[in-house]
Amino acid sequence: MTASGGSDQTVPGRQTKIIATLGPAVASAKAISALVAAGMDVARLNFSHGDHDGHRAFLDWVRAASDEYGRPVAVLQDIQGPKLRVGRFPGGAVELAEGSEVLLVKGDEEGSPGSIPIDYPYLFDDVEVGEPVLLADGLIRLEVFERLSGGLRSRVIEGGVLFSHKGVAFPETRLQVPVVTEKDRSDLACGRELGVDYVAASFVRSAADIAEVASLVEPGTPVIAKIELAAALDNLDEILLSAQGALVARGDLGVQLPLQRIPLIQQDVLRRTNRAGVISITATEMLESMTDSPRPTRAEVTDVASAIIAGTDAVMLSAETAIGRYPVRTVEMMDAICREVESGLRESEGVVDIAFLESNPTFPSATAKAAVDTASNLKLKTIAAFSESGNTALLLSKYRPHARIIAFSPNAVTRSRMALMWGVTPVAADRRDSTDLMIAWAEKHLEKAGFCVEGEGVVVVAGTPPNQQASTNLMKLHVIGERLRRRPRQR
Ligand code: PEP
Repeated sequence: MTASGGSDQTVPGRQTKIIATLGPAVASAKAISALVAAGMDVARLNFSHGDHDGHRAFLDWVRAASDEYGRPVAVLQDIQGPKLRVGRFPGGAVELAEGSEVLLVKGDEEGSPGSIPIDYPYLFDDVEVGEPVLLADGLIRLEVFERLSGGLRSRVIEGGVLFSHKGVAFPETRLQVPVVTEKDRSDLACGRELGVDYVAASFVRSAADIAEVASLVEPGTPVIAKIELAAALDNLDEILLSAQGALVARGDLGVQLPLQRIPLIQQDVLRRTNRAGVISITATEMLESMTDSPRPTRAEVTDVASAIIAGTDAVMLSAETAIGRYPVRTVEMMDAICREVESGLRESEGVVDIAFLESNPTFPSATAKAAVDTASNLKLKTIAAFSESGNTALLLSKYRPHARIIAFSPNAVTRSRMALMWGVTPVAADRRDSTDLMIAWAEKHLEKAGFCVEGEGVVVVAGTPPNQQASTNLMKLHVIGERLRRRPRQR
């Protein structure tokens, strides 16, 4: 047959990537292996919890499971950033009754129902009368009505039970906190030692904050900006020029801003992140009820679908896999939702239009776009890309092809990082000295792995001369086995 799609394996596999947060619920080699088997593409190490030895053990288990299944899995280190917390209470909690008065004090000594310690040195300098204070993910709301030399007198507007060490937010206050705390510095040193593949930076406000985090990671490690403050939204475009991705952190965003604003903010962040050509992630409470229940709610399933339809590259699980009762089942459910929604979109030709890189007229971008358009016009099922740094794979991914992207790389770190890229299947490849030799090697692999059959057309994307970073400039149409058939018969 000619260069049209010939394989019956028309399904490119799941394209949206799944990030699962690791924690006590999956703290064994067996549990991590089960998560990888269920479809985890990226393991998130949440440095707000646990210690360095615990994170090291998780990383070793992830690498071992990745080897076991022959499937790259990326490791994302999420640093806590300047998250403020209340201190301890006798018995572990206090009840704050609506209308009652409490004093906010500095330090980390034990508190009481009338006095809440907050470990922030500029508490009395930064917070003004009339400003709100949100406790425990926004469940409890206070308002400051008087500043004293030893405390902030506050009224409880919405009450509840406040447990020790819960988070505290000042959504209308300009705090002078540094974006990288001492704890973050020590955690980033641990991440460098472990060789994490990505770092997520919490509570960033500006491109300068991203630059500061980037100066502390292993050179070349991509930094993902967690979008959880109003200031980050104000500065999103400049942040997207510095960061290699954005994560819609709906948990803290919903504390900082009214909840009803989250849906449109999510759409906007995904659209602008995709347009900037960097990785977009939707996070928090996606299948939250599965923390305790074997089935999600209809609303949660629809929430995951909405994020996919809006163009997210990846969906993230937090408590569901870290402390939940059904971590593996949750990843399986996420996998099932992604596959169903993606296949529906493909069947209806419902390409998610992410308007990517309209203003990026470079050779690599133009080559990737030509490859995706050609695969679509000829209905080819596979784009085979050679990617030294992962850049070619990311460009192809951002043009959202219906075809699967098989991304060959000799670089193990690149292969792990490509596990987070939408629609990309990373595959190990040896370096070859010429493009012809690379293609000959690739077609053998594509057939052997069952991605393609003889006679099927594929689009090949590469850079010439080979084995150099960011030189994507070649798109070739190739029929699997073409050269084998042309070879003269052996007597
Ligand atoms: C969030 O706030 O939604 C989030 C992902 O960050 P964290 O889990 O660190 O609170």
